[in-house]
Amino acid sequence: ANYVEVVNATKQYRMGEQTIIANDALNFSVKQGELAVILGPSGAGKSTILNILGGMDSPTSGQILVDNVDIAAFSERQLTAYRRTDVGFVFQFYNLVPNLTAKENVELATAVAPDALDPTTVLQEVGLAQRMDNFPSQLSGGEQQRVAIARALAKNPKLLLADEPTGALDYETGKQVLKLLQDVSHKRNQTVLIITHNAAIAPMADRVIRINDAKVREITENQTPVSIG
Ligand code: ADP
Ligand code: ADP
Repeated sequence: ANYVEVVNATKQYRMGEQTIIANDALNFSVKQGELAVILGPSGAGKSTILNILGGMDSPTSGQILVDNVDIAAFSERQLTAYRRTDVGFVFQFYNLVPNLTAKENVELATAVAPDALDPTTVLQEVGLAQRMDNFPSQLSGGEQQRVAIARALAKNPKLLLADEPTGALDYETGKQVLKLLQDVSHKRNQTVLIITHNAAIAPMADRVIRINDAKVREITENQTPVSIG
């Protein structure tokens, strides 16, 4: 079943006299449990659609069906609840709170999520059992990103959104982070959507949505995505 269905999603920004079309009638879907990649160069419109899918922004027109509900029609209040409970976020530069330990960072996210998982268990699952009491500055980049993934997963979200999750990591560390995201989608059946400009990530995804100049240019389904590790 499709977990995400984007239907004719258009986002325009008004800049004085000018109108910028950041997303131009996007159409794509992502099935439950898939690892999908939105691939495109800088300025293509990736962040715009990610922000819309994450409930941080709304499209100018079109439908954003998540689990068959149109979040484009949500009120601010509904969007806040959606961001807290239904979506997990992973960022390029981890966005961990520096003066909280790994475990405390995860606990912070679960505080407002009703279906939250036990922080310790999730940190063990991402391989950080020995690192729970460390502060972000004491962890390598790959470890910090795994804390960030644990933080996102601990909310037990149905949808995980990742913005250039390997962008700040070296090749090998990035591969381990991608493997973790692949496991999240395939073993936990959670839908994962990554935005990136890095074409090297595409072979590992189940679905690649290539965008450029605000439009979807190509959608590829990988029947046999490269499994990592
Ligand atoms: P990407 O993430 O692929 O680099 P974005 O979604 O950030 O692309 O941007 C797509 C286009 O929309 C760009 O031309 C960008 O300048 C424009 N844009 C993004 N956000 C805004 C905004 N808040 N106001 C005006 N223009 C914006
Ligand atoms: P990378 O190999 O990604 O550059 P680092 O060299 O920063 O990573 O760290 C390598 C290992 O040392 C990691 O397991 C990290 O957790 C640990 N480490 C780094 N700095 C500290 C610190 N200040 N206290 C405890 N452990 C640390």
